[in-house]
Amino acid sequence: MSDKIPVQDVTPPSPVKKGESVDLYAKREQIYTKAFTGLFRNVRMISGAFLFLMFFGTAWLNWGDRQAVWWNLPERKFYIFGATFWPQDFMLLSWLLIICAFGLFFITVFAGRVWCGYTCPQSVWTWVYMWAEKVTEGDRNQRMKLDKLPMSAEKFLRKTAKHAIWLGVALFTALTFVGYFTPIRQLTVDLVTLNIEGWALFWVGFLTLATYGNAGWLREQVCIHMCPYARFQSVMFDKDTLIVSYDPNRGERRGPRKKDADYKALGLGDCIDCKMCVHVCPTGIDIRNGLQIACIGCAACVDACDSIMEKMNYPKGLISYTTEHNLSGQKTHLLRPRLIGYAIALLVMMGAFATALYLRPLAELDVIKDRVLYRENEEGRIENVYTLKIMNKDQRDHVYTIAVSGLDGLVFEGRREVKAVAGEILAVPVELSIDPDKLPSSTNEILFTIQAADIPGKTFDAESRFIGPSVR
Ligand code: SF4
Ligand code: SF4
Repeated sequence: MSDKIPVQDVTPPSPVKKGESVDLYAKREQIYTKAFTGLFRNVRMISGAFLFLMFFGTAWLNWGDRQAVWWNLPERKFYIFGATFWPQDFMLLSWLLIICAFGLFFITVFAGRVWCGYTCPQSVWTWVYMWAEKVTEGDRNQRMKLDKLPMSAEKFLRKTAKHAIWLGVALFTALTFVGYFTPIRQLTVDLVTLNIEGWALFWVGFLTLATYGNAGWLREQVCIHMCPYARFQSVMFDKDTLIVSYDPNRGERRGPRKKDADYKALGLGDCIDCKMCVHVCPTGIDIRNGLQIACIGCAACVDACDSIMEKMNYPKGLISYTTEHNLSGQKTHLLRPRLIGYAIALLVMMGAFATALYLRPLAELDVIKDRVLYRENEEGRIENVYTLKIMNKDQRDHVYTIAVSGLDGLVFEGRREVKAVAGEILAVPVELSIDPDKLPSSTNEILFTIQAADIPGKTFDAESRFIGPSVR
């Protein structure tokens, strides 16, 4: 008997002949998107306009004598209208980011990729760039024709105009973004007079190129290959999530027909195979092939198909926002445990954030003890030296009274009252001394307290130690 197990080679025959090489690189196909109108396109225009207004408008708003929203990195202060945030408040920023993440999870479980299709800056800027393309080079067919033509004066002018608009939008975007970190009015003057600082010039240049490259050239490649959110959000989908979907039960068998033809008798479904849904798709996919990772849920294909259905006198909704359960004839459950869980988590975190914001201290006290542990002064008293850092995080000036407690017999030397203007950090030197006979221990816990004269009942404190020689 043989001691070997018989092995059979089941490798399928390779279509590649021996010695031949196969190129695994798939060249990107240029997408020529067709312009269209419709309900969801209007919704997208409104959401995009709102986003643009927020982004470009807010940077130019003033609050008192400063920019309303300003991330002042050199001074480590972040102004958002009437509030000033300090690095110590970064916890709030973490809360805010977590709230945004849960908000995104909630909306994704509920309505799929609506964030991508309607409000993601990559999509919104791409729509604007597509508009510039249409204005300068024409709609889909004209652009395809233009690209095939050899270079001519007209082609050169059209292409130049398109790139000029793209670069103008990119520059304005970059300038606005950098303007959130340095006063935008001065930045604009500096740029125009070529007096701009090196770091600002770098970021304006970098962000201009990034916007131009992403919205002008890379477009759907960012959504399909670069965006991490696109990768993991599909795991949040369930059979009750709203997705843009084609109804194959209604649409198939697809095929062209005359408008008034009895297509049911011909064995045809409602899809006339006009490919309009493909031509308007910014990622160039055919939604009739089912849900795909490249679909950003923009509903451009819904608008396009609805307009075709209208022309054919068929009911709208061959492509629509629907759910997998709906498509398979089952009931859709909008309220489901996962969605309710995200909603509760979101509400709890928003409540915690609002509370933390409301209770945020508007002053802070830090005590730095001198490196010399203690010294004996000329009167034989034990002396400790401190530097008090008083941070006025409020928008108003305050006069603070300094007090110290925890050890009887302490003599305070230094200013008892200090004025800190809004947003100022004061360093106040303080000397404390005590008769050595009154010192209960070599290390004594003490408490420094500050109180603003115009905010009664609210104190800010910091612990420290009073050190002396060993007590026998
Ligand atoms: S737009 Fe509608 S009718 Fe035209 S191919 Fe797409 S699904 Fe079919
Ligand atoms: S398939 Fe439809 S919803 Fe998806 S990206 Fe294309 S046009 Fe937008």
